[in-house]
Amino acid sequence: IGDMADFDSETESVCPFCGVGCKVSLKVKDGKVKYVEGINGPANEGRLCVKGRFGFDYIHHPHRLTKPLIRREDAPAKGLNVDPGDLSTHFREASWEEAMDMAAKGLVKLRDEHGGPSVAGFGSAKCTNEEAYLFQKFIRQGFKHNNVDHCTRLCHASSVFALVENVGSGGVTAAFNDIKDADVAIVIGANPIENHPVAATYFKQFTKRGGKLIVMDPRGVGMRRFADEMLQFRPGADVSMLNAIMNVIVEEGLYDQAYIDQFTENWEAEKQHLSQFTPEAMSEICGISAEQLRRVARTFANAKAGMIFWGMGVSQHIHGTDNSRCLISLALMTGNVGKPGSGLHPLRGQNNVQGASDAGLMPMFLPDYQSVENDDVWSKFNDVWDNEDYSNKKGLTVTEIVDQAYAGNIKGMYILGENPAMSDPDAEHARDAFANLDLLIVQDIFLTETANYADIILPASALYEKNGTVSNTNRQVQRVRPAVTPPGEAREDWSVTVELAQRIGLPWTYTDVSEVFAEMKLTMKSLNNITWDRLKSETITYPSLHETDPGQSIVFGDGFPRPSGRAHFTPASVIAPDEAPDTEYPMIMTTGRQLEHWHTGSMTRRSKVLDAVEPEANCSLHPRTLKLMGIEPGEMIRLTTRRGSIDIMARSDRAIAEDMVFVPFAYVEAAANVLTNPAIDPYGKIPEFKFAAVKVEKIQSQ
Ligand code: SF4
Repeated sequence: IGDMADFDSETESVCPFCGVGCKVSLKVKDGKVKYVEGINGPANEGRLCVKGRFGFDYIHHPHRLTKPLIRREDAPAKGLNVDPGDLSTHFREASWEEAMDMAAKGLVKLRDEHGGPSVAGFGSAKCTNEEAYLFQKFIRQGFKHNNVDHCTRLCHASSVFALVENVGSGGVTAAFNDIKDADVAIVIGANPIENHPVAATYFKQFTKRGGKLIVMDPRGVGMRRFADEMLQFRPGADVSMLNAIMNVIVEEGLYDQAYIDQFTENWEAEKQHLSQFTPEAMSEICGISAEQLRRVARTFANAKAGMIFWGMGVSQHIHGTDNSRCLISLALMTGNVGKPGSGLHPLRGQNNVQGASDAGLMPMFLPDYQSVENDDVWSKFNDVWDNEDYSNKKGLTVTEIVDQAYAGNIKGMYILGENPAMSDPDAEHARDAFANLDLLIVQDIFLTETANYADIILPASALYEKNGTVSNTNRQVQRVRPAVTPPGEAREDWSVTVELAQRIGLPWTYTDVSEVFAEMKLTMKSLNNITWDRLKSETITYPSLHETDPGQSIVFGDGFPRPSGRAHFTPASVIAPDEAPDTEYPMIMTTGRQLEHWHTGSMTRRSKVLDAVEPEANCSLHPRTLKLMGIEPGEMIRLTTRRGSIDIMARSDRAIAEDMVFVPFAYVEAAANVLTNPAIDPYGKIPEFKFAAVKVEKIQSQ
């Protein structure tokens, strides 16, 4: 395989799964992608993981939606009850004309009768930058409010809040590949071997060259095998542990005073705050010895250059913003931002969550993180959009929109490429909210769990059928190109949103996706010097300083984009997880992903290879815990929290603490999010997916 004579065509694009953004070559035969190989993109240099290499065949799965669908009048009550192999019990096929007419009239009716805010939208981190831009514009211009969000709310919203607050920008300050120049790196609350596998290969190479790797995680994640220090701290004790490490740096005078003086503010307050967090006092709370806390502090502070990588183990807590504030403070006090081998890098989840956030798919920011509360910002957008009315009030976030739908205040939703019936916390509550809507329009490639609740379903395109741009975790903007055509009558998402906008009366005239990109450049400084023409042959990192600059991988070497020009120290206090284990729910549940399955599983569970490797819903417990409870690995167990209950197969895993259970959230038959706690971080509004009190029971055979 791989000889071009075997194929009809070859197209370059970008992997549709994680934020690493691996460049791929797609080999096509008889209208189908048959083979995928990694090519020389700056993020992957030819490498791919199992998802990128073998997970592509979902695009040709027989469950693909090929025609618009309208809920039958005699359909059973809305619920998670549609067979994806036979939709006819609930939906009837319709023409695009009928479905779009019904969708547009339904949206306009809600707007006229109940006001613009009665309609909300969830866009997608799986779509292109242009599609994300159009989607937020559709809600803002069409309904005159900012109730538009996407799954960044569920992954790195707290990281973005802390980064914007303290360094002035929500993106990473250095690419993950810049680890090549580091002496030391911290990987905390992340499991890159499974979730960012190609990035993990660069981390492993770094350790081979003698770089010191410090891994911090309540689970013994795979990177521990390569680590010089493994800190398997108690779940929820991140702030105590990080403050203790910084306390040592202060007490032992290991901080970089020259850097602090030149580039930061609020240092004295931070220093004073840290004095209470001695390693001795914090050791028992975080479960790490004072000696190891001191050793780690010295290793990081004494290195010439250090990087910090984090994942959702940091962000998905009610103290997620405080966790990120600690990591930012640690980098700043040691002078580790803005020079080679240094930097702050939240490893972004979805393939285009960076780009969708940049494009304004958030309720508080217009494109380029420009505040919706600033009238001067709006006047720029109004000029470009030919807009008159607008709302300068922050909109509602994902979980707030769901709550308002549940309460009946939001009556209509347009959901493009997201599956909140599986991905939202307390999923049964979210499902009830969607069932309660007067009008739910879902645009997707499969009948997702969310589409089960839809009134109108619009068949859309997979990434390998699309034209546009995406931005990866490194801030690298790359072109995606269609290797194959969408099946049946399915269409590219951007063209569907444009037609719907025209049908609700917006003056949109786009005829090509490149026109959308050109419009984005008018209000997004981050795209300066990045042109559609350049992107035909280049990957460009933003910011790009001139027309031939491939872009700046490392930023903020000469100051920060904050009003003072300085980065800020925000002291972080300890906030306990929202619900503590008790006698009824004595263990701690945490959730996440597995190597073979992507998010809610709608794509990877329809990929033959990936599904064959990991076919069944499973959770992991420590072998001693299983033994104590009389449970054999492979047996079914019941997990119950205050929200609900699931039955799931137990696996034995020594990497899990004895009082924890890890549950992947890809499996509808044992949906982890039926159990999760919807309590949110007050700043980033991100739910606490990483901590819930849970009861674990052996299921007694009848
Ligand atoms: Fe795709 Fe991420 Fe794997 Fe690269 S590392 S092939 S982007 S899933």
